[in-house]
Order: sequence, then structure tokens, then C-alpha cells
Amino acid sequence: MNILRKLSSISSPGIIRNFSVSPVNSANYKCKLLVVGGGSGGCTIAAKFARKLKKDEVFVLEPSTEHYYQPLWTLVGAGVKTVADTRRQEASVLPSNAKWIKDRAVSIDPKKGVVHTKNGDEIQYEYVVIAVGLKNDYDKVPGLSQALTDENSGVSTIYAPEYCEKTWRDLQRFNGGNAIFTFPDTLIKCPGAPQKIAYLADSYFRMTGTRSKSKVIFNTCLPVIFGVKKYADSLLKVVERKQIDVNYKTVLLEVRPDKKEAVFVNKDDKSKHTTMGYDLLHVTPPMSTPEFLRTNKELADVCGYLDVDKYTLQHKKYPNVYGIGDCTNTPNSKTAAAIAKQCHVLELNLVNTMAEQAPSANYNGYGACPLLTEYGKCILAEFVYDGVPHETLPFDQSRESTIAYYMKKDLFPFMYWNMMLKGYYHGPEFIRKIINPFGN
Ligand SMILES: Cc1cc2nc3c(=O)[nH]c(=O)nc-3n(C[C@H](O)[C@H](O)[C@H](O)COP(=O)(O)OP(=O)(O)OC[C@H]3O[C@@H](n4cnc5c(N)ncnc54)[C@H](O)[C@@H]3O)c2cc1C
Repeated sequence: MNILRKLSSISSPGIIRNFSVSPVNSANYKCKLLVVGGGSGGCTIAAKFARKLKKDEVFVLEPSTEHYYQPLWTLVGAGVKTVADTRRQEASVLPSNAKWIKDRAVSIDPKKGVVHTKNGDEIQYEYVVIAVGLKNDYDKVPGLSQALTDENSGVSTIYAPEYCEKTWRDLQRFNGGNAIFTFPDTLIKCPGAPQKIAYLADSYFRMTGTRSKSKVIFNTCLPVIFGVKKYADSLLKVVERKQIDVNYKTVLLEVRPDKKEAVFVNKDDKSKHTTMGYDLLHVTPPMSTPEFLRTNKELADVCGYLDVDKYTLQHKKYPNVYGIGDCTNTPNSKTAAAIAKQCHVLELNLVNTMAEQAPSANYNGYGACPLLTEYGKCILAEFVYDGVPHETLPFDQSRESTIAYYMKKDLFPFMYWNMMLKGYYHGPEFIRKIINPFGN
């Protein structure tokens, strides 16, 4: 293994030292641009700069051999897609002109411009883009990990490839009783997904005849159903039509799989606990950024997110550091749709930085959330900073529509694999100017 690593190192122009005398035989690499994380944001940026820079001047540090299109996991949970539909080999989505280091960052020193990896390697960079996303913190909820790994517990989550098909199996096994859906007290990716799966479960229970003998409950830490009023108004009508019980400011504290009980706490009054029995429990787990970033006082804000300018995406302290996607502290909805818009801004600004000019492009906070309300129906929420709607289609998108459902199910995945990951999609602004020039 070490011999192979040395041999592959010798052919790389990025190497400054190959033969280490340290016991772990670590390598030292040097590159112009290091992209940490090869998910939605990382692949997209790597593709753009691999075209601009010379071969192997772009490095991607990514430990996984598989890449997932996560937005489809909601439809996996509802039985419309399989997890295999959402998966591709990482090697097939990374640009061939870039060098992939299949390893994980364990520390970063922005003063020296160095990243250390789990295998003991050191990567020196001139510029770095941090794109490490958010990870699920199952252990913050006692009993949750145990419940998720037990096939018969009735507990699942669409937020992980290993459990989203379990959600579908749980929906099929459900025979009435309490079906509880949760939303945690942390920043999460796609804040619409916890309620989308509740709506689809409700529809499925109606099709199979179990809805009349069940209660569907949505326990959310938020004080509202959705952060943008225009769409919240429509979603409240969906909730009413479906007779879903919504409990606001209600956070999952513990799962007791042996008793099939979930304990919740009131977000404002931590002394108020409620215990609910469940027959099906769908958990959206608490999330945080990876530890090497969260604990880095130079790069992260007090909450552990990469501290960037919300318009330029440049780090507030280190001009050669940029961030994209879920791991940054830009106050937008954490979605792949947001990354499509961010990647173009980041591209323009990083090119300026490389040319020793000030960044000039601004991210407007664009994000989109296709809120699935039924099999075949969707409210396509699109908005910018401060919850201002910013719609692409020439009709009121707060209405449930069939076209938005098929865009979510078929069009967006196609665009993701074939355009966005290759760095050719910058969000729908261009289309919007043509088909909805006067819309908001
Ligand atoms: C259930 C669900 C439904 C969703 N629905 C939608 C939707 O409808 N529309 C939409 O636009 N978005 C949706 N999203 C959100 C979207 O998938 C994410 O916002 C997007 O994938 C985030 O991209 P990212 O690059 O920031 O992070 P990711 O794509 O998660 O990539 C992060 C990468 O960093 C790597 N990494 C982690 N730690 C390290 C480390 N220490 N060193 C190196 N690499 C590391 C990881 O292996 C991973 O590959 C949904 C997500 C989920 C889970």
C-alpha cells in the first residue's frame, strides 16, 4: 500500500517530498488549489478550477468512494426511488484533471496554509475551498443509534444512505398508531425534508387504508412550519387538510426503543418534558460540521461553521480561504440549489483573489426547496436572503403543482449529475429572466 502511494506520488508534479522517514511513511503534497470535501459543493468547484488550472494543480481531499445525490433520499424514504438511484462512484464525478487524495482532513493551519490528513499526510495549498458539509450527530440523542440499527424498531431517517430505505420499509410495515416526525434544534440541511417525508407518509397511509387508525405528528423545534411566510401559509393548509398534529418548539431528547417511547423537551422551557409512544418514528438527527473545522478557532465561528462573508463566500480573516455549501455560516437554506448559485460567485471571486484583486461577485442567498406534499404534488419554494421569494416559473409557486413534482423527481437529478457537478450549472437565473422576467 505504501509502495503504491509512493509510486503514484512520484508521477505527480504536486509532490515536494515523497520519501518520509516517519513510521507512518507519510507524504507531503503541494498544490495550487485544495478542495476539502468532494460532495456537491466540492465536486462543482473542483470541476470549474480543474478546467482553468493545469493538470493536478487542483487537489480534492475526500474520504468516500461513493457520492450521493442526497435530495432524492426523501423519495427513497417514500418508496419512489432506491438508494442505488442516488449513488455514483466518487471517481466518476471528480474531474480527471484534478488529483484525488482519498483521505480525510484532521486539522488545518490557515496561517501556514497546510492541511493534515488522517493517514498522516500533509498538503500545502495556496488557496483552499472548504466544502465538508454537515454530519449527523446520532449520539446527541440517547437511544437513537441503537434504534436506527435495529431493523424492527420502527425508527429511521431519510438523512443517511444506510437508513433511508428503512424509512420505506417502516412505512410499509406501519399498521396504525402514532407516526411521529421530528426536526432537531440545530442547523440542518434541507430544512423542508423533515415535513416532506411526513406528508408523503400521510399520503401512503391514506392509500393503504391505515391513516384512519393513526395519528401523524410533526414535532419541530421551530416556531413556524417554514421560514418563508409565502410558503408557510400554503403548508399550513396542507397540514390542515391532512390533519397532521404540529407541535412547535418541541425537540427530541431521547429515544427508548425498548418501550417504543420518544421523549421531547420544550425549546423555551427545558423543564417541560413530554413522553410520546410511537409505532413509527422518523428522526431528523442533530447535525454539525466535521470536528477539524468545528474546533478550529481561526476558521470557524462560535457555532463551528466556516466564518465567511455571506456575499463573497471568502473567509473573513484569511483571503485565500473560501467556503461553499452546508458547512459555512451564510444564513441561507442549506440546499444543493444554493450551491449551484454559490459556485459561480465563488468561481469569480477566487479567480479575482488569485489575480490579487478584491472579490466582486455577491451571493444573494438563493436557495430552493421542493416541498413534496403528495405523491405527484409539490410546492417549489425559491427564495433569497431574508426569506424573500424569488421564483423561476411563470405561476404562483406556493400552489401545489404536478410539474414541480416531476422537476424534483426527474429533472433536478439529471441536471445535478450532468451539469452541476461538471461546473456548468449556476442556478435558474438565466431561465427565470426568459420565462418569468417580472416575477419576484
Ligand atoms: C434528506 C435530504 C433531502 C434533501 N433535499 C434537498 C432538496 O430537495 N433540494 C436541495 O437543493 N437540497 C436538498 N438537500 C440538501 C443537499 O443535499 C445538501 O445541501 C448538499 O448536498 C450539500 O453539499 P455540500 O457539498 O455542502 O456537502 P456534502 O454534499 O454533504 O459533501 C460534504 C463532503 O465532505 C466530505 N468530508 C466530510 N468530512 C471531511 C473531512 N474531514 N475531510 C475531507 N472531506 C470530508 C464528505 O465525505 C462529503 O463527501 C437534501 C439533503 C438531504 C439529506
